[in-house]
Amino acid sequence: MATAPRLVFASHNPHKRDEVWAILEPLLPGWTSADLASASDFDVPPPVEDGVTFADNALVKARTACLATGLPAVADDSGLAVDVMGGAPGIFSALWSGVHGADEQNVRLLLAQLEDIPDAHRGAAFVCAAALVTPEGHEVVREGRMEGRIGREAAGGGGFGYDPIFIPAGYDVTAAELTAAQKNAISHRGKAFAALAARLAVL
Ligand code: IMP
Repeated sequence: MATAPRLVFASHNPHKRDEVWAILEPLLPGWTSADLASASDFDVPPPVEDGVTFADNALVKARTACLATGLPAVADDSGLAVDVMGGAPGIFSALWSGVHGADEQNVRLLLAQLEDIPDAHRGAAFVCAAALVTPEGHEVVREGRMEGRIGREAAGGGGFGYDPIFIPAGYDVTAAELTAAQKNAISHRGKAFAALAARLAVL
């Protein structure tokens, strides 16, 4: 009989689960891919994301998955924070144009909003909060940031969301022009989950 997973990742998106596994695998010796289940392997109800910070929303998702599965659960919440917009779109990144997950419209709207902003003031960061909630009631949150700036037009076919207009600090290409491994090595999600890995290793 297959053994139970050690951890559930609180997202129904298989792409995200695989991305997080790629980050965690080298940091968790002795773990196999089967140790990280996905919320879609269980009957996890959709979480009510009513927090006002990335950390709040990551915790809501992890608590929901932990309660539904009885397993320790990890979750993340992330978004883009633009300096001249006071950190917006922030927790509203996915639905900035009014339609949840409409990446192209979100990118177009943000570029229009920043049209008159000169290059020197186009600083931004991707931010990710990664949360762990255990059935014993332990809660841990770690945050990661990827600094950069917003370009003037979309470029690159990789990644998702705002990647085609985000130029990471130290690069002259967008995040959508990096390979998945290159992005994971510097990404907000990579840093947040790497910081959480030490706690996961002692589950
Ligand atoms: P969530 O954490 O899945 O809720 O993501 C929120 C939204 O933030 C996504 O829909 C994207 O618009 C944006 N976002 C978060 N991380 C990234 C990234 O690595 N690249 C591009 N967009 C991102």
